[in-house]
Amino acid sequence: MSHTRRKLIVGNWKMNGLTADGLALASNVAARAAEASGAGGAIACDIAIAPPATLLREVVARLAGGPVSAGGQDCHWEVAGAHTGDTSAAMLKDAGASLAIIGHSERRGDHNESDDLVRAKAEAALAEGLVAIVCVGETEAQRDAGDAVAVVISQIDGSIPAAASPKTMVVAYEPVWAIGTGRTPTLGEIVEIHAAIRDHLAERFEGGDGIRILYGGSVKPANSAEILGLDDVDGALVGGASLNAADFWAIVEACN
Ligand code: PEP
Repeated sequence: MSHTRRKLIVGNWKMNGLTADGLALASNVAARAAEASGAGGAIACDIAIAPPATLLREVVARLAGGPVSAGGQDCHWEVAGAHTGDTSAAMLKDAGASLAIIGHSERRGDHNESDDLVRAKAEAALAEGLVAIVCVGETEAQRDAGDAVAVVISQIDGSIPAAASPKTMVVAYEPVWAIGTGRTPTLGEIVEIHAAIRDHLAERFEGGDGIRILYGGSVKPANSAEILGLDDVDGALVGGASLNAADFWAIVEACN
């Protein structure tokens, strides 16, 4: 069965944004979205931003009534309890989130998050009705060793809950060595990995052909159109460029 997968652009602000600049950025994105979708216009993709948890509720308020949704950058695997410093999926939902990024390589690296842990967090997000964006990607050493596809497929097998469906799950392919470095794989390398992920999702999950696969890693206005035009690239997870509303919006417009 063939699926139409609407593209999705997600801005990951990471640990950036104090009240004044974060809310100004959210308002700027909201204003661009309102302008683009007003007067009978239509935006060609879904759009979300993931601010730091401290700003989530206020960012949600700035985006209210518009087409841009908001999400968290991580969540705990339990609903509540003695987990100092953590945020549960229920808390994200309560603050107005509709999605959560799970298993970003910075969390896998900084906090030693394993595939099993990432899967438990993704299950927690799904249980709250959040869309889970599960990140996978190889290191440079793994790519140089010719293991990129195998590493990514193994992360998918370990990190994605069996209940994943096109409505609840998004996969973000983010080569670790491309994040925040200004370097990207060749277009051919992106196509190769996305095709391998697509085949695997279709084989392994009910409706897996409809699960969106985002590319992430140094997506900028200058390279977004060519990356978003590739087969099986269903959108982008954008870090650095999402901190500038004009750059983020230029990437959104590259979906047209
Ligand atoms: C990211 O944080 O997921 C990311 C892709 O970052 P950047 O766009 O800055 O490489």
